[in-house]
Amino acid sequence: MKIICIGRNYSEHAREMAAELPQEPVFFLKPDTALLRTNRPFYIPDFTQEVHYEGELVFRICKNGKHIPERLALSYVDAVAVGVDFTARDVQNELKRKGLPWEKAKAFDGSAACGHFFMLSDFGNLLDLNLELRLNGQVKQKAATREMLFPVSYLIGYVSRFITLRQGDLLYTGTPAGVGPVAIGDEITGFINGRLSLRMKIK
Ligand code: MG
Repeated sequence: MKIICIGRNYSEHAREMAAELPQEPVFFLKPDTALLRTNRPFYIPDFTQEVHYEGELVFRICKNGKHIPERLALSYVDAVAVGVDFTARDVQNELKRKGLPWEKAKAFDGSAACGHFFMLSDFGNLLDLNLELRLNGQVKQKAATREMLFPVSYLIGYVSRFITLRQGDLLYTGTPAGVGPVAIGDEITGFINGRLSLRMKIK
């Protein structure tokens, strides 16, 4: 399986990163070794002094597809979880400055935390999923799917023009504003419409 991550999908986050709003989706990949399954602790790696959490809605791809039309795209996902796109921000800034790819900052082991999946059929309207990420009980990020610059259906269609999607792939749909650093001892919790999906420790 592979992990597809969308960048800059909420305007407020693009602003906090001093990044331009994209005209089309920005995406990158993480390998399966980046996946940190439900509630496992995240160990801060030794090559960074500044790891940021990026809370994101994660959609699970449920069938294979290529060139998926947007109107059919939602039939290619069956479940949603809260995930964290852990980012070595200091390393990323250095790579950005040099115009180099971001893998060292984004794709390292454990960098894709993923919580418990809820079936999409449990939710009425995909436009009304609310993501909430808390750090040590304090709300840090809060956003609704309707605030995404590119909706999930568009993202699926767009990515599948370039890369075949396979059953079991995960789509991280970008982080809203409010990202920040983690420290040893922190606890992250993530909710979808008030339902707990993710609870994990930083070590
Ligand atoms: Mg992200």
